[in-house]
Amino acid sequence: MTYKTHVSVGLTFSAAIFLLLYKIELQPILIVLLIISTVIGSSAPDLDTPTGELWDKIPAGSVLSRIIKPVFIGGHRHLSHSIIGLLILSTIYFLILKLMFLLPILSHFNIGLILLAFIIGYFSHLFADMFTEMGVPLLFPLEYHFGIPPDPLGRLRIKTGRWFENLIIYPIINIVLLAIIILYIRNQGILGRIIN
Ligand SMILES: [Zn+2]
Repeated sequence: MTYKTHVSVGLTFSAAIFLLLYKIELQPILIVLLIISTVIGSSAPDLDTPTGELWDKIPAGSVLSRIIKPVFIGGHRHLSHSIIGLLILSTIYFLILKLMFLLPILSHFNIGLILLAFIIGYFSHLFADMFTEMGVPLLFPLEYHFGIPPDPLGRLRIKTGRWFENLIIYPIINIVLLAIIILYIRNQGILGRIIN
């Protein structure tokens, strides 16, 4: 899946969990933190792709990617696309959050919710990649790649960046995301409050 699809899938998962399940209250800074955390989480697994779109977005990304690549053992879709990768990167992210939350402006926010947004984004990335031809080595270092549908029907899975992803999956996901937001706003009666 491409970067933009992963971000949309991550935000949709996050919106479903935080807006529909947790029904969190709309606080501008919290919403921004949750969105940023989700975007980072849904991008993080592809840090193992030195030529990935993600690296182009980071200053000096191509140099950095070559330094970091050996850490991810074996190139694209290995450690970072597994449960162990999820645990390691979530731990690193948690430690970074711990440092950031020393700032007084952030200290009263629930660090667990922000970490959860990262994990939701990360998980959504692995889930989405399972629908692609290559599948995902969830149990790395075991080499087996899991996919939906599973082998021997793996040939039915989609090809990253082709028309099916761009013209069908990407628009549908964004419609679902919009629907969740509208549902949340309606349930909260936010529009009514603003109008009155
Ligand atoms: Zn990926």
